[in-house]
Amino acid sequence: MSESPLRPFAPAGDDFRWAAVDLTRYKEEGAAPFREVTRQTLFRRPDMRCELRYFEVAARGHSTLERHRHAHAVMVLRGRGAVLVGADVFPLKEFDLVTVPPSTWHQFRATADAPLGFLCMVDAERDKPELPDARELEHLRASPAAAAFLDSPGD
Ligand code: MN
Repeated sequence: MSESPLRPFAPAGDDFRWAAVDLTRYKEEGAAPFREVTRQTLFRRPDMRCELRYFEVAARGHSTLERHRHAHAVMVLRGRGAVLVGADVFPLKEFDLVTVPPSTWHQFRATADAPLGFLCMVDAERDKPELPDARELEHLRASPAAAAFLDSPGD
């Protein structure tokens, strides 16, 4: 019998979950700095060149500050937070769309009182993220908005 085409939304308590979708690590522990992020890969097929993932950042958590040649298309599904794209910071609420262009520093942060959950569409084959060195961090911090974002509670 083939796999069911429907994987119902099946929240577990307060957690957004989908039936028969594994809850996995955001990244290997120690691979890059992040705090309190989970991943669910919703769509990944050999006949598709993109993947759709759901990431959830717990309150006060954040994704890795990184850049890479591939782009991201993001839709917020729950909670509140903010995103750094380049040197700019934008508040986020449910159903907002965010485009992260290629080779652009980015990081997602949840607020202190709510998780931030979002869909992220990405190339199935993609380059490895790059982390900022001290000089690049200093350059980012020249933007007061970026500096305040990077210093927000959670670390
Ligand atoms: Mn990324």
